[in-house]
Amino acid sequence: MRLLHARHRQSLFALYHQPEAKPDRCTVNEALAGNLCRCTGYRPIVEATMEVCFEALDDKFSREADRITEILSGLNDGEEIFIGNETSFFDAPASIDALADLYARYPDATLVAGATDVGLWITKQLRELPRIIWLGRVAGLNRVESIEGGLIIGATASLARVQPDISRLDPDLAAMWSRIGSRQVRASGTVGGNIANGSPIGDTPPMLIALGATLELRKGEEARTLPLEDFFVDYGRQDRGQAEFVTELFVPEPGENDVFRAYKISKRFYQDISAVMAAFLFTVENGRIVNARVAFGGMASTPKRARRAEAALGGAVLSESGTLARALKAIERDYAPISDMCASSEYRAKVARSLLAKALVEAAGMPSERTRVEGQREVMLENLV
Ligand SMILES: Cc1cc2nc3c(=O)[nH]c(=O)nc-3n(C[C@H](O)[C@H](O)[C@H](O)COP(=O)(O)OP(=O)(O)OC[C@H]3O[C@@H](n4cnc5c(N)ncnc54)[C@H](O)[C@@H]3O)c2cc1C
Repeated sequence: MRLLHARHRQSLFALYHQPEAKPDRCTVNEALAGNLCRCTGYRPIVEATMEVCFEALDDKFSREADRITEILSGLNDGEEIFIGNETSFFDAPASIDALADLYARYPDATLVAGATDVGLWITKQLRELPRIIWLGRVAGLNRVESIEGGLIIGATASLARVQPDISRLDPDLAAMWSRIGSRQVRASGTVGGNIANGSPIGDTPPMLIALGATLELRKGEEARTLPLEDFFVDYGRQDRGQAEFVTELFVPEPGENDVFRAYKISKRFYQDISAVMAAFLFTVENGRIVNARVAFGGMASTPKRARRAEAALGGAVLSESGTLARALKAIERDYAPISDMCASSEYRAKVARSLLAKALVEAAGMPSERTRVEGQREVMLENLV
């Protein structure tokens, strides 16, 4: 173990201290996902981990666990924390009302949730953030609740906290969610941050837009709700006024006649930003698509619906060969992707067509063992039950 890189060691340390059953090979692989190793190779690392994690937990951290837990619980007193002065501060409000009030007074402050993006502004861009409002202490802002017809996700719910509930909605959501960053990133990064950062390549927006999610924003005492796709106006510009913040999201559960599909294309399978992210929701009645929602990331300056493809698919019969041809033609006019370090514009355009074709043939009934190398839906469905 001494030979491992620090990042490997941290991942495996966390796994060793997980209060769950001893890990199998799959769990160890998942814990290591995103760590790159060029020296020893993964097999010996995975095998050494399984051996170590099957021993009784006994180190100075496990012996001190109760004492440390007690000290940390003492910090959870529901009080606001303020450090600094008017010009430069860290403030952690404890309620939504206190947050709204504070942000109205300091609309230039930087909101920080999990800091997986904001942290890099400091460590990589060396930016100075004089006023910081941390959202992690706001009571209720991290709620995740299944209600009639869908799921409510509070803005500060971490990607990890949302994972079990969102995964129950569809196997593709389960598969895609497990490819967002790594365990560590999902433990800290929030759904609200993934939306509010306005990234054109964030992984959750295309899926949530295809599902028909709505977003709630609050400013002072006023709250408003809008379809998630309307939040993304242009590159770096969202429909969010001064002192306005994201409070929560409502994600409708796919209905009985809905076919949901999502695919992520990235250079590496785990912990890599998307070149293209695609999500589809087809409502199918008697073999006919009565409604189509298609959303892509990485194809425009924002996560964006493919309105022309959607129109071409409305009323189309899945088994007719013309359906695919018309949809593929339409999607060419939906996007004008750019070339960057992740992919060329030609590649992106081609991949978008391929993913649309894949979603349509799967929706028409082709088993995913014929369309996918990894993450077959039939296997995932069995595991979900
Ligand atoms: C190693 C690594 C891997 C990553 N992999 C992926 C990946 O695979 N897929 C992916 O999509 N992303 C990935 N990310 C990006 C990032 O982790 C996610 O976008 C994450 O969801 C951001 O959430 P956060 O809570 O950390 O946001 P923060 O960094 O806290 O904030 C991000 C932005 O949102 C604003 N903000 C946060 N909450 C609110 C709110 N409630 N209201 C208004 N504004 C708010 C902040 O002011 C800031 O502008 C990765 C990042 C890292 C470092």
